[in-house]
Amino acid sequence: MKTKNEYQYPIENARIAYDESPAHTGRLRHAVDFIIPEGTPIKASLDGIVVDVKQDSDIGGHDASFDKFGNYIEIKHQNGEYSIYEHIRKEGALVKVGDKVETGQVIGYSGNTGWMAHLGPHLHFDVHKYHAPFGPEDYETLEIRWKAS
Ligand SMILES: [Zn+2]
Repeated sequence: MKTKNEYQYPIENARIAYDESPAHTGRLRHAVDFIIPEGTPIKASLDGIVVDVKQDSDIGGHDASFDKFGNYIEIKHQNGEYSIYEHIRKEGALVKVGDKVETGQVIGYSGNTGWMAHLGPHLHFDVHKYHAPFGPEDYETLEIRWKAS
């Protein structure tokens, strides 16, 4: 299923890896990775409200056991769609839960936390919906419609 909303790239001028990450299967099959150095500013892809932030971790690694150590920012948009920005650096969020953000606003800085696989520092980005009963397994990524730039 494609997104209803159109999204702007959260990072400009980066190499985009679509299916190189071993994590991008099943419910994450439409996720994308932007290959960037740590400390790169990350922009909101669309107007929305910040609904979740984790930024207390300083741990990252190659295998899936590091997944729970990943920092991230999650934003809710119109049409029940959410975007997520993962692997941000420790204390790397410039927003907090409840903040209203605008398209293109810098929301944080990239890092190397969580399950990085073999890709090195990168930003994991996806757009998803939640289905009842709203558990983590009810998280479905959508094929992103990018805004023409
Ligand atoms: Zn990824």
